[in-house]
Amino acid sequence: MALHHLGPQHLIYAMSPDNAPVLTVRSGDTVAVETADCFENQIQSETQPFVAINWEHVNPATGPIYVEGAEPGDLLAVRIEKIEPGDHGVMTTGHDMGVFGDELADSTIRIVPIRDGRIEILGYSWPLNPMIGVIGTAPERASVANGTPGEHGGNMDCKLITEGATLVLPVHVPGALFALGDMHAAMGDGEVCSTGVEMPGRVTVTLTVLKAVDLPAPFLIDAERAVAIASCATLDEAAVQAAKSMAHWLQRRTGRMLAEIAILLSAKGDLRICQVVDPLKTIRMEFSKSWLSELGVDVEAMLA
Ligand code: CA
Ligand code: CA
Repeated sequence: MALHHLGPQHLIYAMSPDNAPVLTVRSGDTVAVETADCFENQIQSETQPFVAINWEHVNPATGPIYVEGAEPGDLLAVRIEKIEPGDHGVMTTGHDMGVFGDELADSTIRIVPIRDGRIEILGYSWPLNPMIGVIGTAPERASVANGTPGEHGGNMDCKLITEGATLVLPVHVPGALFALGDMHAAMGDGEVCSTGVEMPGRVTVTLTVLKAVDLPAPFLIDAERAVAIASCATLDEAAVQAAKSMAHWLQRRTGRMLAEIAILLSAKGDLRICQVVDPLKTIRMEFSKSWLSELGVDVEAMLA
């Protein structure tokens, strides 16, 4: 399978069926994608004026990539092979930003050095938990700004979208038009101040078209778990949608009654917050792969 490279000059600010592809690959190919941070690397100092940021140039994603053979109704499996961080990240918060925005009068910027797999922040040092904030395919019709998540993926800010995971996205247009950006060196569930440790870097992904495979989307599979992801206007709605997405899939795969699936999900599933700061809020429903095996569902085989 071919290895491709896509440089950071190919930036888009919305996922759209009208974006012209900048790279064409075959199903099963691997691409190393260079990304800018969510401010398009405009912030390089803790003292620079926040008001000078060009807000037309935020949340860039690199792409889009046309995957040959991807047709509307298919799924695109995106295996995150590797994340290579930049040498520093940036965090910001301020008035109207995140859950504390009503109590903050001024903007604050912190530059966060990244060294030897650790971030250095406010005098402390932590291991990275690198992840991808914006990752998606083109919606069917309307263009969706990269700051907004949705059923096409986008700004889900889910910290499980990291090395070793496979993210399943819908295909709405020929070629899927896949793009990604907004990497974080670290982020906790919620992203409460409105930024993770925003960093540029390089992500290596393998893109595989899935035909007639019964998986919800967006959906994620990692070493431990299967995860249904949903983004809605409120956390309450996203919680219901994520749980139902997982439940209805388990119903189809096991033939069990919804009431039984509901009981299993309530006993063994985990509903968690991805982010609370984007125009739509994102929740994930996690269910362990060991319990999927107990139920006779081999989710890895569905990716093969
Ligand atoms: Ca984000
Ligand atoms: Ca971000």
